[in-house]
Amino acid sequence: MAAYKIIDHTYDVVVVGAGGAGLRATMGMGQAGFKTACITKVFPTRSHTVAAQGGIGASLGNMAEDNWKWHMYDTVKGSDWLGDQDAIEYMCREAVPAVHELEHFGVPFSRTPEGKIYQRPFGGHMSNFGAKPVERACAAADRTGHAILHTLYQQCLKHQCEFFIEYFAIDLIMENGVCRGVVAWNLDDGTLHRFRAHKVVLASGGYGRAFFSCTSAHTCTGDGHGLAARAGLPLQDMEFVQFHPTGIYGSGCLITEGARGEGGYVTNSAGERFMERYAPTAKDLASRDVVSRAMTMEIREGRGVGKENDHIYLHLEHLGAETLELRLPGISETAKIFAGVDVTKEPIPVLPTVHYNMGGIPTNVHGEVLRPTAENPDATVEGLMAIGEAACVSVHGANRLGTNSLLDIVVFGRASALRAAETLKPGTPHKPLPKDGSDLALSRFDRLRNANGSMHTSEIRLAMQKTMQMDAAVFRTSKSLAEGCAKMDQVAGTLPQLKINDRSTVWNSDLAEALELENLMDCALATIVSAEARHESRGAHAHEDFPDRDDVNWQKHSLAWVENGKVKLDYRPVHTYTLTDEVEYIKPQKRVY
Ligand SMILES: Cc1cc2nc3c(=O)[nH]c(=O)nc-3n(C[C@H](O)[C@H](O)[C@H](O)COP(=O)(O)OP(=O)(O)OC[C@H]3O[C@@H](n4cnc5c(N)ncnc54)[C@H](O)[C@@H]3O)c2cc1C
Repeated sequence: MAAYKIIDHTYDVVVVGAGGAGLRATMGMGQAGFKTACITKVFPTRSHTVAAQGGIGASLGNMAEDNWKWHMYDTVKGSDWLGDQDAIEYMCREAVPAVHELEHFGVPFSRTPEGKIYQRPFGGHMSNFGAKPVERACAAADRTGHAILHTLYQQCLKHQCEFFIEYFAIDLIMENGVCRGVVAWNLDDGTLHRFRAHKVVLASGGYGRAFFSCTSAHTCTGDGHGLAARAGLPLQDMEFVQFHPTGIYGSGCLITEGARGEGGYVTNSAGERFMERYAPTAKDLASRDVVSRAMTMEIREGRGVGKENDHIYLHLEHLGAETLELRLPGISETAKIFAGVDVTKEPIPVLPTVHYNMGGIPTNVHGEVLRPTAENPDATVEGLMAIGEAACVSVHGANRLGTNSLLDIVVFGRASALRAAETLKPGTPHKPLPKDGSDLALSRFDRLRNANGSMHTSEIRLAMQKTMQMDAAVFRTSKSLAEGCAKMDQVAGTLPQLKINDRSTVWNSDLAEALELENLMDCALATIVSAEARHESRGAHAHEDFPDRDDVNWQKHSLAWVENGKVKLDYRPVHTYTLTDEVEYIKPQKRVY
């Protein structure tokens, strides 16, 4: 292996990722007096959070009566009883102060005529325990993530947090099961950096790019998942992948659910508003899995629109130019650019597209990463935290409600900083790092940099994405999943044949993409193998051969350990208790929409 010069750094806390989760944690750590570094492979305000459109959920009750207990009920129901109710209680209760805090930090929310934060309805969010839709999504027009991300970055700068921008985290430094730091590569000058820290917080986002069509950014490659997997930790509930009903046909670009929140609706080739048949109460605002499945069903039964009858129309034209300009300016522009459609005049062609990963690195309600054992399914890993889409806390269970992810990232970003303040004193001295602590990262970096096989990263990546899109999408059968597992086994088996053309260390995007591909592959394998094993339908995991939810055998979290392309599965119990005695455990109910 080449001798790499390594630059050492020492911090109380290192956060990997500068999306909403990473920035909220970084800011909180700074506020608590910790010497904090935030490492990010893209400039903070380019993180995928910037693309979030619709809103952040909180029962402020600005437009209609609302209550965090109703929000909790909807979230538990949306999770199809796979969410941990202690975590859901925490998130829904904290939502109200979290949004007010964002307002005070300076997020420019849209306003009601009285000057309160504007709220719109969103799928699955109901008043009075499921009675009727309620306006709960706090919105800054259709650019809510953009507004939050920029505000949080400014707050981090105010608290003197240090940023390592365009640094790529390669692997964790582990010692006897304890996390001691992380190794990163500075893309700009090619140097390698070893960060020693008492706590490493993984906030590296989702892995939408394991699929062919997704709404997420090219940087959403499950790097934190890969870091955790290589550190011998399991990934949880990876079979639950959310498809958004309204990705623009062709490009996958998102048209926010806020569009239906404002009154938009979908139709089939007969011009029928078919959601009335599938979800008589919530209709177009039923939760995403329900709308995605209904659309897929319409298409499969030959009622799709377009030349190939392979998509669906989303109508906004009846809302009028003025409302569209005021409430949905961003998506009006997106529809023009990516579908050539003038939304004031014609419908947008849409298709269910991968949007969110419910699964991730398992944590408790403080953001501490779990290493579950048979004796203690909630055992934690010292020195390691995970938050945001990279984590599985699990508030979204088998299916996330819209607006609950922006909420998740700020609530648990904050929780991780509060926990650090409880368990660590700023400036606590560090032990020396183990001599072999960076071997994993360096050998991986060196191996890939010198990879001299016969297949390009893009080739292997495409094979993976197509397999996942074909066999691990909205509809799943025993046959498709078994075939998918076999194909993914074969695709993962081609990784040793990887070829890198560029051997340099400065802005070597060829190498960065290869590092990302290995992370994506771990995610894809965990997803399809966990899906194949789950013999029921729950939330986003709709299994045609097992159409019912089976709470007796399957109300449990999947755990997937991925090692050298092989997946080992186990399970841990769902938390069937709440955090306080203010609310009771919500027992599983039959799904009625
Ligand atoms: C188009 C779109 C619209 C959405 N709209 C909404 C919405 O309206 N409401 C809602 O609640 N949710 C929405 N979501 C979901 C929500 O936006 C995301 O789940 C959430 O923003 C994820 O935040 P995050 O901080 O976990 O990750 P990201 O914002 O994805 O940030 C990840 C960070 O990790 C860094 N990183 C990753 N790998 C590495 C590495 N190896 N080394 C260093 N740094 C690394 C990146 O640089 C980045 O800074 C939307 C998602 C999409 C894709």
